Amino acid sequence: VTFTIEGVGRVLAEHSIRAERLSIRVSPAGVKVVVPRGRSLSRGKEFAESKAAWIRRHVHRMDCIVQAQTAAARSAPAIKDRKTAREKILRRLQALSELHGLPYERAMIRSQKTRWGSCSIRNAISLNIKLARLPEELMDYVILHELLHTKIRGHGRKFWDRLDRLTGDARSLRRELMNYSPALL
Ligand SMILES: [Zn+2]
Repeated sequence: VTFTIEGVGRVLAEHSIRAERLSIRVSPAGVKVVVPRGRSLSRGKEFAESKAAWIRRHVHRMDCIVQAQTAAARSAPAIKDRKTAREKILRRLQALSELHGLPYERAMIRSQKTRWGSCSIRNAISLNIKLARLPEELMDYVILHELLHTKIRGHGRKFWDRLDRLTGDARSLRRELMNYSPALL
């Protein structure tokens, strides 16, 4: 069932078998109230209304991110040929690996919509070809992030502290990277 909240617009309320409590999800697709089984959808509506200010803040923040990503995608240089883009990324991976003593097993360059990179338990590093369109410090950030996973799995405090030392300021680079969406590039 959908209803309208002032200043937010249409909100969808839906039952979920797995949900244990009322919750609100804000995504580019819209605002949704998840209602656990056994509670009424009108209770979901009341809940959303009581959280209207919170929803408005989140919708606004998401709109800002999407806007920034759209603008960044428009101004990022295009990949003229894939071979050059691949070589650029692989060269940088090799250079940073040697510079910091972080060896990896093998590397793959792929085109992905949701991830910039990954590192398998066998230390195979996969990097998104769209990295070639990012400012260099952001491409380096993603590469160093994956290289560090060869030594530290997961994203605990130790990981971020070490990545801070490798990149200068990992947290602000990470925030900066949020302005770019692989799906839009
Ligand atoms: Zn990671």
